[in-house]
Amino acid sequence: MLERLKNDFYLAMLTLVGCIIVLCVTPYGIYRLYSGNYIVGAADLIMVLCAIAATRMAWRSGDTVKPGLFMALVFCAGALLVCINLGVDGLFWVYPFLVFIFFLVAPIRAFVLLALMLGSLFVIANLYPQLIFASRFQMLAFFVTTSITSLFAFIFAYRAQLQRRELQRLATTDSLTGAGNRRTLNDQLAVAISEFARLSRQYGLILLDLDHFKQINDNYGHKVGDQILIELVPVLQSMLRQSDQVFRFGGEEFVVLVADIKQADLERLAEKLRAGVQRKIILPDGAQITTSIGVAMQKADESWEAWLHRADLALYEAKHQGRNRVVTA
Ligand code: GH3
Ligand code: MG
Ligand code: MG
Repeated sequence: MLERLKNDFYLAMLTLVGCIIVLCVTPYGIYRLYSGNYIVGAADLIMVLCAIAATRMAWRSGDTVKPGLFMALVFCAGALLVCINLGVDGLFWVYPFLVFIFFLVAPIRAFVLLALMLGSLFVIANLYPQLIFASRFQMLAFFVTTSITSLFAFIFAYRAQLQRRELQRLATTDSLTGAGNRRTLNDQLAVAISEFARLSRQYGLILLDLDHFKQINDNYGHKVGDQILIELVPVLQSMLRQSDQVFRFGGEEFVVLVADIKQADLERLAEKLRAGVQRKIILPDGAQITTSIGVAMQKADESWEAWLHRADLALYEAKHQGRNRVVTA
């Protein structure tokens, strides 16, 4: 449980907001019901129930987008209702909401929701003067301060989102080629194992190693070697489906993880990759570059380490048989 909270920022924030709502709003709801303000009391308790339901949904499904949006919409409606019913007393609740909505939904979505909520409040306040605000000056002060708070909260959330994405990219991809890194490969192999067990979705593994790459470095220089590795990933991707994933396994070795495939199709695909690399990647003097490939279909009750090892043995065999060929485990 702690691991999930640590790894999933939006799940952690949704849970925090859910807990705060339950702890802070429940006593108010009960107090409002007790003091005869049934509309606000019911609205408070509905918000608490919705917060619990959304948090539960996020934990069960692993999806935080829909529960976050649901919570944000319920709180927008709740905030409007509380302001209309309580007048100035309700306005104070808008300020924390202006900040925590950015933890529930993506920044642009949160900003649009806030604009709609404050805009509706503005229209209602102008249609029914004295309903919410004691004076025009108070109304002006409220809308100016809420707009400033929303704007700064938006800028902060937007920057944080960009930085989080960049960190994610750095942690999951190889810096030279942009392919997935070893860590992401391990995670995706574990996903493949669990999908095979749960959904009988069989994956195939293609392990490629460029032939005599050391000689390429020696003959053309390290920079040309790097350029070949950079070119290789889009060349492979151009021959793959959107759902197939490419990872840099290390040095000049790459792994392609293919979902939902049969053995014969996997072998055909590996052969297509081998021929494609030979045809499309050209060295500065016009020479071709070749690859050796080991392929392995996923087996029931096999660990991903054993599966990868079988592909590695097949690759070793391809090298042993003279390179520039595909060998199946
Ligand atoms: P084989 O056909 O047996 O695979 O021969 P090879 O020379 O490709 O194999 P080996 O594993 O002996 O050498 C791999 C070479 O790849 C060694 C290293 O200089 C080179 N290499 C590894 N990473 C990089 C990189 O990021 N950039 C460049 N330019 N070269 C790299
Ligand atoms: Mg090699
Ligand atoms: Mg190698």
